[in-house]
Amino acid sequence: MTAKLIKGTEIREVILEEVKSGVEQIKEKHGVVPGLVTILVGENPASISYVTLKIKTAERLGFKEIQDSQPEDISEEDLLALVDKYNKDDAINGILVQLPLPKHINEKKVLNAIDPDKDVDGFHPVNVGRLMIGGDEVKFPPCTPAGIQEMIVRTGVETSGAEVVVVGRSNIVGKPIANMMLQKGPGANSTVTVVHTRTKDLEGHCKRADILIVAAGVPGLVKPEWIKPGACVIDVGVNRVGEKISEKTGKKIAILKGDVDFDEAKEIAGSITPVPGGVGPMTVTMLMVNTLKSLKFKLGIA
Ligand code: NAD
Repeated sequence: MTAKLIKGTEIREVILEEVKSGVEQIKEKHGVVPGLVTILVGENPASISYVTLKIKTAERLGFKEIQDSQPEDISEEDLLALVDKYNKDDAINGILVQLPLPKHINEKKVLNAIDPDKDVDGFHPVNVGRLMIGGDEVKFPPCTPAGIQEMIVRTGVETSGAEVVVVGRSNIVGKPIANMMLQKGPGANSTVTVVHTRTKDLEGHCKRADILIVAAGVPGLVKPEWIKPGACVIDVGVNRVGEKISEKTGKKIAILKGDVDFDEAKEIAGSITPVPGGVGPMTVTMLMVNTLKSLKFKLGIA
């Protein structure tokens, strides 16, 4: 059996087209576009490339986008004042502070200073609480878990009554996706188990999963024989396992591997995400969805 490939790169294009047409409609009717600001402190090359991707995507969709770059030595007070400025800026619907921040700045304090109604990353405690309650309370589901749920739904996998096993209990992936899948409603209604480093029988739990979501950050952790035949496997793991020379650019690039042994797993699963090109592209995509949503909430049309 060869699993259906769940390609994030393809799903991304469909969703971005939907967002783009949503932006055009709002612009025509209300004369406004979503505004997204990304605040970048310092010159960490990985952070610069993440922010550039976010800004370029926002630009492509017709958003107003601002990349606010600040020096490495900006004080915490000045950074908090900057966040406050964007909290009060009517043209801005989403504020994103790129992590990590320099050591002299308290990350938690800065993230918690973002207006929860502009927290399109969904990490503010208010939004985490809203996610826990579920239903109409939810404003901004965190982007990677939201992307995972979109992929499952758009692949046509039945979630209602399904056994979902989530490997990993981080605040950015494991805990929120587990919470989302157990809510009442479409794309959810699942029976969820969360497993982690202290779980006694990892293999036994994985074998029961109709939908297996793996976010551990351990290359090849999930063995092919742990997968139930026909299961939907979402591999969130992105692990650098070496380097190679890119055929396209001739430059050194990382060799990436997921948490699941893909080559063998695809012969057992019903559907599976590749790494790279699976969950990866969904995170920025869902950030755009959340930013458009933020404007819709403001206009009272969400
Ligand atoms: P994390 O390190 O914060 O959490 C990992 C979780 O996995 C922990 O809860 C831990 O208990 C569990 N775990 C680790 N080893 C385990 C083991 N041997 N057995 C059982 N459980 C184990 O990581 P994270 O931020 O949740 O990210 C997980 C992976 O997903 C990473 O590879 C990360 O790079 C990737 N990731 C990808 C995206 C994306 O593609 N957009 C986004 C976020 C994270």
